Amino acid sequence: MDWERVRKDFPILDQKVHGKRLAFLDNAASSHVPEPVLERLLTYQRTEHSNIHRGVHALSQRATDAFEGVRTKVKDFINAREDREIVFVRGATEGINLVMHGYGRKYLKAGDEVVITTMEHHANIVPWQMLRDEKGIVLKVVPITDDGRIEEDAFVEALSERTRLVGLVHVSNSLGTINDVKRLVSLAHQRDIPVLVDGCQATPHMKVDVQDLDADFYVFSGHKMCAPTGSGVLYGKASWLERMQPFMGGGDMILSVSFEKTTYNQIPHKFEAGTPAILPVVGLGAAIDYLETIGMDRIAEREASLGDYALGRLKALEGVRVFGPDKDRASVYSFGISDVHPHDIGTILDQAGVAIRAGHHCTQPLMKRLGVPATARASVAFYNNEEDVDQLVGAIEHVREIFG
Ligand code: PLP
Repeated sequence: MDWERVRKDFPILDQKVHGKRLAFLDNAASSHVPEPVLERLLTYQRTEHSNIHRGVHALSQRATDAFEGVRTKVKDFINAREDREIVFVRGATEGINLVMHGYGRKYLKAGDEVVITTMEHHANIVPWQMLRDEKGIVLKVVPITDDGRIEEDAFVEALSERTRLVGLVHVSNSLGTINDVKRLVSLAHQRDIPVLVDGCQATPHMKVDVQDLDADFYVFSGHKMCAPTGSGVLYGKASWLERMQPFMGGGDMILSVSFEKTTYNQIPHKFEAGTPAILPVVGLGAAIDYLETIGMDRIAEREASLGDYALGRLKALEGVRVFGPDKDRASVYSFGISDVHPHDIGTILDQAGVAIRAGHHCTQPLMKRLGVPATARASVAFYNNEEDVDQLVGAIEHVREIFG
C-alpha cells in the first residue's frame, strides 16, 4: 500500500501551522475528510439534493436513494442483519441518548440497575445519570486495573437480577484500551442483560461485526471515520428497536396523525423525526466506500505499526508517562510529563506544528481514577506517518528542555 499517496487524499494535512509542518495527531477527536468524500458531497449537493421520502419528483427520489443507499452500506459495514436496524442520528451521543429515552425511560423503574465502566466517555455516563435522577435507577460502575483494563471479576459481580442494561466502550478514547466486547457481551447475555456498545473509537480503526459481538446496541459517529460532522449511527437489534418508544416526535416518524391519535412509523423511521442530516449521511456513505477501498484490515495493520513506533518512542522518553495498556490497544496515547500541565504541553506542541488534545477528553471520572486532572493525548490515523511521530517526539523533548 502506498501510504504517502493515501496521505495526499487529505489536502488539509499539507499546510504549515505557526510556520511549521503540520503533524496532525488529534484524530480521536475528529478525523479528516479525504478528497473522494469531499467530491461526493459536492456532487450530491450540486445535482441530487432535495428533501427525502416525501417527494414525488425525480430529485427527491434521487436524494432518497442516496440517503437510503447509505443505510445499506452501513448495514454491510458493521454486518447488521437488516437495513431497518440502522438508525441515523447526529452522532454517538445522540445514539446513546436515544436508547436512554427509547428504552430506559419506557422500561426502567426505581431500583433497576444500569452498569457502566470507569473508562466511559461522558456520553455514556450523563444520560444514565439523568435517568437515575428521573426514575431512581441505580448506576453501577465497574472498576479498571492500573493499566487501564476492565476488571472482569468486578464486571460479573456487578451484574444482578435488577440489571437492565450494560453500557460499555469498545475502544477507550483516553486509554486506547480495546475491550474484549464479545466476551463481556456474552457474560451479560448469560443473565439476559442487553448491552449497548459505544463504538466511536472502534469503527474508524478496525473491522466491526455487530453480529459476531452480539451487541444489542452499537453507536458510532461519522466524523471520527472520515465523514463530515453531523452523521452518526445507532445500530439496534430489530427486536429491541421495535419495543422502544420514539425519541422525538414530528414528521417522517409517523404513519398517520389526527388530533386524537398518532400511529408511529416502522423502525428505523420511528426514530428519525424531521428532516435528517442528509448531506452528512451521504458523506458517511462515501467515507465507508473510501475506507473499504483501502480495507479495514490494512488500516488496522497500518495503525498498529505506526502506533507501535509511537508508543516505543514515547516510552523511551525520560519523565514521560504513557497511560493505558501495552497491548490490545488502539493508537491513542494519553501521556503526561512530570511537573508540566497538559495544557502547557499542548500549547508548546502547537507552536511546533503538532496538533494533539490536552484535557480530560470527556472522561473526568477516568482522570480521577488515574490520579491526574488531565492528560495530553496524541492519536494516530492511517494517514499519519513516521515523520509526524518524530515531530511529536522532538516537540516533547523541547517541552522537557523548557521546563528543565
Ligand atoms: N464515545 C467516545 C468513546 C468518544 O470518543 C466520543 C467522542 O469523542 C463520543 C462517545 C461522543 O461522540 P460525539 O461527540 O461524536 O457524539
